[in-house]
Amino acid sequence: EKAEIRTSLSQLFEDIGNNSGPALNFIRSRVERMSEQWIQAGGRLMRSSNKTLSSQMRVLLYPGALAGSAGQRFEAMVERGGPLGELVQWADLSACLTILGHNLTLSTSQRQLHSLIGAAPGRGSCPIQWPLTFDLIYTDYHGLAHLQGAMGLAFQHYQCRFRILDSFGTEPAFNLESYANSHGYKTLWGRWGLQPLQYMTMFPHTPDNSFLGFVSKEAERTEVREEELEPETDGTDRIAVVYGKQDYMWQGKSEYVEVISEQLETHATVYQPPGHTSNLPSFITNHGLLTQEHFLRLLGRAKVFVGLGFPYEGPAPIEAIALGCVFLQPRFDPPHSSVNNDFYKGKPTSRQISSQHPYAEEFIGRPHVWTVDMANRTDVREALKAILSTEVKPFAPRELTCEGMLERLHGYITHQNFCSKSVPTWPPESALRAHLGPLGQSCAGVCRRSSLVCEPALFHHLNSPSAFTRRSTTCFLPTALGVDTVASSRSLYCSVALALTLPTADCVPVGLTYLDRWHCALTASEQRTVEELRK
Ligand code: UDP
Repeated sequence: EKAEIRTSLSQLFEDIGNNSGPALNFIRSRVERMSEQWIQAGGRLMRSSNKTLSSQMRVLLYPGALAGSAGQRFEAMVERGGPLGELVQWADLSACLTILGHNLTLSTSQRQLHSLIGAAPGRGSCPIQWPLTFDLIYTDYHGLAHLQGAMGLAFQHYQCRFRILDSFGTEPAFNLESYANSHGYKTLWGRWGLQPLQYMTMFPHTPDNSFLGFVSKEAERTEVREEELEPETDGTDRIAVVYGKQDYMWQGKSEYVEVISEQLETHATVYQPPGHTSNLPSFITNHGLLTQEHFLRLLGRAKVFVGLGFPYEGPAPIEAIALGCVFLQPRFDPPHSSVNNDFYKGKPTSRQISSQHPYAEEFIGRPHVWTVDMANRTDVREALKAILSTEVKPFAPRELTCEGMLERLHGYITHQNFCSKSVPTWPPESALRAHLGPLGQSCAGVCRRSSLVCEPALFHHLNSPSAFTRRSTTCFLPTALGVDTVASSRSLYCSVALALTLPTADCVPVGLTYLDRWHCALTASEQRTVEELRK
């Protein structure tokens, strides 16, 4: 059966149905608030596309963070300033899949998981391959462990159907257990040995993972304006809203916040436990934790959204920018990473976080995003002065709109198949633009500078002697660099990152030191090829 674009989200409300609790209430109300936006975007997709319909998928959504004992802790924090970014993503993913016409089952119960997919007796005599009734299972790192417990031996057999919501991303080096262990990649979460593209991130962190994203859309400001605001103003009060739902996020930041409040009436949405007095400076207007709807309304009135340095890489700054705010945030020098920072410690990535929100810094930038040295009053004052003298329009990157997300997810569902071992055929070769980068730079970096994206699925077109001679490069890489490894995109990624780093005039022998720079795990046969080449 083919998946047809739906014109309502009522199916999803049925699926969420009798699940309750603060987390699902947050998801439900977000989907309700955005349903018109989703439906219209679905309509545009339907009219504009000569898109081939994909088959209707039977999809299980299992946010493991909401299940079991971890789930109880998570739920308890939803209304007390705990993290909400994951819920934003689960809400948008479920709305998107519903509009795309797929068939969803949503569960946040470990017990229910066993009855949905468990290897119960009577499900066939072979414990490894009883028919799994889901084509796709979206879960998270917590959920992977639950699935392994529920599926037993069949876990391995069906893991190609999993998709892992993984905000910060998982690098190949942390994904392969043997490689991570032998090369000292310490991680609490990695080592599951899935295909790197099965990890779906909040922002486009790395081409090794799939960028899932979420939705932030500028349209909301218009609604806010019509409903709430005086017609003669431009809708923007001169206020700043500080980003940070909990008290501890403000510690050590009082000077910075003071500089802001010299020029702007400064508001906050910090959770205040009943009966506790606030530790916030007295010049701050604190609203307490707001519902998302009210929080967005507050942003709609603001000129500046002020980052304190934590939380990292969340959705709120993107929402603020979509509502016409300027995001002011601290630069990190040296950058934060799993080596020097408790939050990133144990996360399966070695990304260097150059500011509170590197995506906002690099992909959006000025005039919407200002990255400053928080400890330097002059720097902060000057940034504020510049911000207050510029008119900045609401802005939402297309990839973070409903249409962008619908297209992207449709693409993934139609073309990503990790159960097949064949060479990727999507995106098509016609999309390939080959660039030869300077020595020592990654494919991702080189492509970004040319406003392109690095696409590992295209590497195999480049990864041949003839492709290299056509580009009059005397260096070439062995075609043998593997497609048959557990993490094929990883080794292909390395091979082209490597190719891209060899300038024509300066060819050096391919060596393992190079490959190590891009965290490659080579299979034995790849290693032999490299040894051969070195001779
Ligand atoms: N948010 C909210 N009430 C508030 C402050 C924030 O509902 O008082 C929402 C906000 O709209 C955003 C979500 O919380 O979509 C997640 O925010 P954040 O960027 O802080 O990421 P987190 O660290 O919570 O994952």
